Amino acid sequence: MPRLKSLVLVAVVSVTSLAVAFGAEEWLSGINWLEPPKVTPGTDNGPPSDAIVLFGGTDLSQWEGGDKWLIQEGAAISHEAGIQTKQGFGDCQLHLEFAAPDVIEGEGQGRGNSGIYFQGRYEVQVLDSSENPTYFDGQCGAIYKQHPPLVNASKKPGEWQTYDIVFAAPRFNADGSLLSRGTVTVLHNGVLVQNHWELQGATMYTEPPIYHAHGLREPIQIQFHGNPVKFRNIWIRDLLPKVAD
Ligand code: MG
Repeated sequence: MPRLKSLVLVAVVSVTSLAVAFGAEEWLSGINWLEPPKVTPGTDNGPPSDAIVLFGGTDLSQWEGGDKWLIQEGAAISHEAGIQTKQGFGDCQLHLEFAAPDVIEGEGQGRGNSGIYFQGRYEVQVLDSSENPTYFDGQCGAIYKQHPPLVNASKKPGEWQTYDIVFAAPRFNADGSLLSRGTVTVLHNGVLVQNHWELQGATMYTEPPIYHAHGLREPIQIQFHGNPVKFRNIWIRDLLPKVAD
């Protein structure tokens, strides 16, 4: 087989070379693309140069309600109530790190529960799912009550874990009807656990998912669910085209 592949490759290269030699015309899309802006990548999961830092280890000034949470050793610890970004976001790339309490208390939904609510409505579950059975569409990495994670990539309580999430906001028609669903892609500790999941609507505990029209930019919330879950290194890249504002 490797020999056959080599022969095919040689044949393809030869045909391409012949096309160039005989002056065949290259296909061009005709689109005048703008040059992609240069971005300096971060190191150690740190923010790239075009990211907005939502929590860098010292303060939660980017968050409504952030004064209620505790900040210890560079980590923000969920406390008393949820927090939400002062800024609204639509399409975005979000990075954050979290750790479930290392002292194990509670079980199921009562252990290490928090959550990332895009646009205040669509929850990517945060839970201690290391050794903690619960309903599958409610475990860590789930789109709450819509879709379980593809795999369980959880680390142990107390260990830092990463979420890298690509969110596309739903679009609505002028009359409030749904134009296109939102989508979510989630990497949990570098492992793909949600692959471009099409949101069925807002994620709720008591009701089935449903869409209600809302703005293109809405705050991101982090849930307080009674457990002191730690967060650090939260940054976001705004992916909404500037013209869409
Ligand atoms: Mg939750």
